[in-house]
Amino acid sequence: MRCSFCGKKAIYCYKGKCYCKEHFIEYFEKKVHETIEKFNLIKKGERIGVAVSGGKDSLSLLYFLDKYKDRYGIEVIGIHIDEGIKGYRDILTDYLKKISKKFGWEIKIYKFKDFFGVTLDEAVKRIKEYKPCTICGVWRRWLMNYAAKELNLDKLATAHNANDEAQTVIMNIIEGNTKDFVKGGPYVGIKELDIVPRIKPFYFVLEKETTIYSILNGIYPPFVECPYIRGQTRDLIRKKLYELESKYEGFNENIVRNYVEVIEKLKEKYKGTVKLKKCKICGFPTSHDICRACELRRFVAP
Ligand code: SF4
Ligand code: ZN
Repeated sequence: MRCSFCGKKAIYCYKGKCYCKEHFIEYFEKKVHETIEKFNLIKKGERIGVAVSGGKDSLSLLYFLDKYKDRYGIEVIGIHIDEGIKGYRDILTDYLKKISKKFGWEIKIYKFKDFFGVTLDEAVKRIKEYKPCTICGVWRRWLMNYAAKELNLDKLATAHNANDEAQTVIMNIIEGNTKDFVKGGPYVGIKELDIVPRIKPFYFVLEKETTIYSILNGIYPPFVECPYIRGQTRDLIRKKLYELESKYEGFNENIVRNYVEVIEKLKEKYKGTVKLKKCKICGFPTSHDICRACELRRFVAP
């Protein structure tokens, strides 16, 4: 196959067009710049934290924002949460440290062990009432909020792509989770209790596109999979959506584009229905008296 733009050897085709290496990078970056502009994700002078797990998506996002930080007039800092998952996170943390040194990225690392007294591996053994991904997600969100405050960030950028978002949309529909269904979109900002807004510049980019982007830029990480993901609903949906994408090209992107069309109207409708207050223990935003992170912390208290 040949590039539709210059006739060189193509490495990727999507929706009737093929791209060589150079034109793929141009196509990818244009898609991301357009998302940033259309949804007003970044403003000049902002300090943007990038949630970087060490996976290909987040490394690509950090690479992209660092590459264009002067064009946008922003400061970029990587935030890495080390949950303590042996044989998975440790490998990605090491890779992230190595690659950050090479590119001169500023990275701050926050460990579960330092904040909750246990690694995720230890917590999983002691907390039987909740699934590993629940504990992981709750504590990771708490720590991200903590980091955003400590580092005085204006925004927190996450590398959610169109596949991730399509999975979340479907999961929330299956679970009838209206509250979370209206929380999505490329810009999630809750003005109450000064929660740092989340932005998703890769919102319309496909997972296979970030894979190619990371390979072309020499930042593709070692392939490792979290031992706790198997059998999770998200994993099953992910596989099903992949199957559908191979039959109906653009399936994932279409879900996300249609979702974005309705989300603003829904946000208006549900505005103010969730009242946030401050957690009595840590002071972080929660809809209960005590936040879920502090609740879970009780299970592992010495
Ligand atoms: Fe955490 Fe679950 Fe993701 Fe593993 S798969 S990193 S346990 S949320
Ligand atoms: Zn709390």
